Amino acid sequence: MNQPTDPTIILGAGFTGLLTALHLCHHRYPRPVVLIDQKERFVFKPLLYEFLSGEMNATQVWPRYEELLDCSGIAFVQDSVQTINLQQRQIELASGLRYAYSNLVLALGSAINYFGVEGAKEYSFPFRTGEDAMALGQHLRECLQRASQIQDPQQRRLLLTVAVVGAGPAGIEMAATLADLLPRWYDKLGGNSEEIRVVILNRSPEILKGDVNSQLRETAQKALQKRQVPVELLLEVSVNAIRPGQIEYKRYDQFEVLPAVTVIWTAGNTVHPLIKNLPILKEHRDRADRLWVTPTLQLPGFSEVFAGGDCAALGENPLPATAQVAYQQGAAIARNLRAIATGDDLKLAQVTLRGTLMKLGLGESAANIFDRFQVTGRLGHLIRQGTYLELLPTPVHNFKVTTEWLTDEIFRRYMQPKLPSPSEDTTRTKVLQWASGAVAAVIVASSGLGIWRVAAPAQFNRVWQPTGLPTFLDRLLPVKKQS
Ligand SMILES: Cc1cc2nc3c(=O)[nH]c(=O)nc-3n(C[C@H](O)[C@H](O)[C@H](O)COP(=O)(O)OP(=O)(O)OC[C@H]3O[C@@H](n4cnc5c(N)ncnc54)[C@H](O)[C@@H]3O)c2cc1C
Repeated sequence: MNQPTDPTIILGAGFTGLLTALHLCHHRYPRPVVLIDQKERFVFKPLLYEFLSGEMNATQVWPRYEELLDCSGIAFVQDSVQTINLQQRQIELASGLRYAYSNLVLALGSAINYFGVEGAKEYSFPFRTGEDAMALGQHLRECLQRASQIQDPQQRRLLLTVAVVGAGPAGIEMAATLADLLPRWYDKLGGNSEEIRVVILNRSPEILKGDVNSQLRETAQKALQKRQVPVELLLEVSVNAIRPGQIEYKRYDQFEVLPAVTVIWTAGNTVHPLIKNLPILKEHRDRADRLWVTPTLQLPGFSEVFAGGDCAALGENPLPATAQVAYQQGAAIARNLRAIATGDDLKLAQVTLRGTLMKLGLGESAANIFDRFQVTGRLGHLIRQGTYLELLPTPVHNFKVTTEWLTDEIFRRYMQPKLPSPSEDTTRTKVLQWASGAVAAVIVASSGLGIWRVAAPAQFNRVWQPTGLPTFLDRLLPVKKQS
């Protein structure tokens, strides 16, 4: 028999779950909360490429939950959820621990979809966790090391070819990053970086098809060609099998083979198995089997259960499976859990889409701001990075990482890019360097303000009201709301 004193349980501490917990903590939620995740670290997935490339470190992109959850009232349990019993309001963990709950938050994210391709799971690299990034980085370094010592050009080619399956945002960002990164690493080993190949294989004839980033297609396409080694696109092919050292695909009814020691799988997501196995009728799920939720993010028929992020689907107007949606839904779930505890009315979850950001190489990104204008190249990179740093969970972590990054990005790169040659006018160089640093700082600060305004409009307005900034921005850039 469930008791009103049973805790509120959050399953999954990704963007939705962690943000729910942090908001509950911030709003002094009066009930005990148990946050459960199979991992001991939160992964900030949009910045995982920076972790792979060494542009950012583990403390920044892959922090331990214990660092982020410095909050009484939230108990973090590292364990794997095994079963969810909605009827009896109980969950069971791999360790055998069982919990009864008064409220439950389903925030388990999604799983990788291998579309039944032979060998895909066994012989390709996934890229979703810190462990994945470490394993891929180590493998790539080993390949380059071996290639630098091998005389046989065919063997070398095999080691130096990377196949990326999927031309969605993850595939594009991965290929663009590697096409800049691998030549750098290989140069240091004395290799000829022109021998490196990065090849994207994609089923549809265009990249970023049907994705929220599709407006950036042309920009992305150009950027892929401009990398240290141009990225090759194999479009309209369907991958048939992945075997050690090769990927087999079908093009115009012909089977062909691309020899490659490294295959990275970014081709798709599917519903989390625990979500799929819940006894929820097909009518209460979308086509991808995600759970329908009400505008207050509750499960129809189970008002004590909330769901958000990649495992939930909201009504007729589907929201993209992205961090920015998950992040805001976590905050909305926390607000409604608090309303239940205090006997207030539940509020509809408002999600504001702020446009999209894509990494298109080392130090290069594209920002599609509020779907209105695009900023690309180095400026795009500063905006993307500044935006994500503002979104890092907990102000303390956010502040620490932002400061570290600013110091590194602006001061190190802008202030000491190279020693001026004797013929250069050193004063002019210094002024230019300081000016670039100042511009970069202004961009990061203003993108931070922009995110603050859309993520927490009430707080933003309260703090900045005396300056007249909110009224000015409301006139200039009204934000687009979806519910
Ligand atoms: C490489 C990559 C790059 C991305 N880049 C962007 C981007 O640039 N912009 C953007 O908006 N979105 C991006 N996304 C998508 C974004 O990260 C997801 O949409 C977002 O993480 C979804 O949040 P969530 O809370 O639903 O799930 P997640 O953040 O995936 O969290 C789910 C959590 O559940 C835990 N879990 C799963 N199963 C169990 C279990 N059985 N027991 C216990 N715990 C479990 C997981 O460990 C995880 O911590 C990217 C995704 C990837 C993989």
